Amino acid sequence: MAARPVRYTVDMDERTARRMLVRYYRWLRRYGLNDSHSGNASLRLGECLLITPTGACADTLRPADLVLGPLEGSRPRGASRDWALHQAVYLRHRRFTAVLHSHCPHAVALTLGGGDLAPVDLEGQLYFPRVPAVDVDGDRYVEAAPEPLARALDDHGIAILRGHGVYAAAGDLDEAYKLTCSLEQSARIAWIARVGGTLP
Ligand SMILES: [Zn+2]
Repeated sequence: MAARPVRYTVDMDERTARRMLVRYYRWLRRYGLNDSHSGNASLRLGECLLITPTGACADTLRPADLVLGPLEGSRPRGASRDWALHQAVYLRHRRFTAVLHSHCPHAVALTLGGGDLAPVDLEGQLYFPRVPAVDVDGDRYVEAAPEPLARALDDHGIAILRGHGVYAAAGDLDEAYKLTCSLEQSARIAWIARVGGTLP
């Protein structure tokens, strides 16, 4: 019998949260959804936010390296530069307790030319009929991205920042990870179908 997946929620203790956040951040890198130093990840723990540090390396990150700060406070020393974005997501969506940011290569490549991503496979269509791709001025990314990105997560908890990466938010890390993996798989299928000539 398959083991039931463990759900990690807002109720988990800080020690467990640190261990789990490192584990999922590493998986993003291990399975090709990030490179060594790209992306970031966070958990909301009650009225606090636990996040990967700026410049984090997925291969060497340790639980003690993660940065904890008040959910509504300013960016703590050493926290990811995306702190304000994660903060905006949690403040807009009280149901979310986990956010993963990855650089899914096929999802980013497919939306470079403009428009949203519309999955062509059945599973993708089931999870998210359309994934919004948000345009943000690269020079003002840190200040400009939080509000439109948080809004883009309204429907399915997943959005693409054009030319950059994917943000997935959910009630636990496992669900955010599933959304990320499903989107990249769906984008990969669409890419292969176009290269293989079975789609225009
Ligand atoms: Zn990024």
